[in-house]
Amino acid sequence: MSDTSTTLSLDALAADARARVAACAGLAELEALKVELFGKKGAITAHLKSLGALAPDERKAAGARINAVRDEIGAAFEARKAELDSLELERKLAAGRIDVTQPGRGQQPGGLHPVSRTRRRIETIFRNAGFSVEEGPEVEDDWHNFEALNVPANHPARAMHDTFYFPDGRLLRTHTSPVQVRAMLREKPPLRMIMPGRVYRCDSDMTHTPMFHQVEGLVVDDGVSFAHLKSVLHEFVQQYFERDLGIRFRPSYFPFTEPSAEVDIECVFCSGAGCRVCKQTGWLEVAGCGMVHPNVLRNVGIDPERYTGYAFGFGLERLTMLRYSVNDIRLYFENDLRFLRQFG
Ligand SMILES: [Zn+2]
Repeated sequence: MSDTSTTLSLDALAADARARVAACAGLAELEALKVELFGKKGAITAHLKSLGALAPDERKAAGARINAVRDEIGAAFEARKAELDSLELERKLAAGRIDVTQPGRGQQPGGLHPVSRTRRRIETIFRNAGFSVEEGPEVEDDWHNFEALNVPANHPARAMHDTFYFPDGRLLRTHTSPVQVRAMLREKPPLRMIMPGRVYRCDSDMTHTPMFHQVEGLVVDDGVSFAHLKSVLHEFVQQYFERDLGIRFRPSYFPFTEPSAEVDIECVFCSGAGCRVCKQTGWLEVAGCGMVHPNVLRNVGIDPERYTGYAFGFGLERLTMLRYSVNDIRLYFENDLRFLRQFG
């Protein structure tokens, strides 16, 4: 190979390489071209190898020439790589750009379940009246759920509760009253609290589900009377329904309160005129209540000669149904989005 032919082919190679580098449209293509030229079997490498065949006096000039071409092509590669890198960056930025002025697509914001909304609403009303909010375990023992509340074994009231029992004798609480028991064991009067939460009974129809929610209230202090109970419930009903509804108390029986009463409110649908929902009576039952039975106070170590207290309990689903005019309690737990979205 003569000096001239090497130089010519080198010039041709350099021109060809420059053109091809400039034409590379992507980084992968550029990398492949680099291997083709500079790899073990590459054209530049072949030129370097050919130096061995030259006479020693020609070798130096030819080597310098090849190195110059190699450096020049190498620099072209670096320049093109920088261009392609910056194009790639711009492409990514353009693809990832968010136009915050565009309306959202397919947004499905969640919302609180209507029973949760009711619970929060009730908590706010009572917190504003100076009540604390207490919680307790849903798996209870017989003593906290029944015995301490003046419901001994074989008491007929147990039949009203349709209790779910575990093999070891524990149970799913049938009301939130055991939270009252735990609170009274833990703290001494004055007590002023509500206990919202899930409760369980083996029952299912249009007005019953095996799991439902209660909110109970308890106040124990010096000189607490039935009049206090009436005024608190009356105030609560006005605030919850945001209307001045009539309220009445009917004598009733619960083992844990004496005297006991059921609380009716003026029908929210017909304002007392009589309709299908209130069975033409004009009244809707919403709560049970009474003065805490002295036996209950004794069971938790509170002296019933010194302290008195009242307690009340609402069904959260019942209050929610009345507020939103829903007539089947099971709708709340079927998780049908068409139903739930109406409360968003
Ligand atoms: Zn009515």
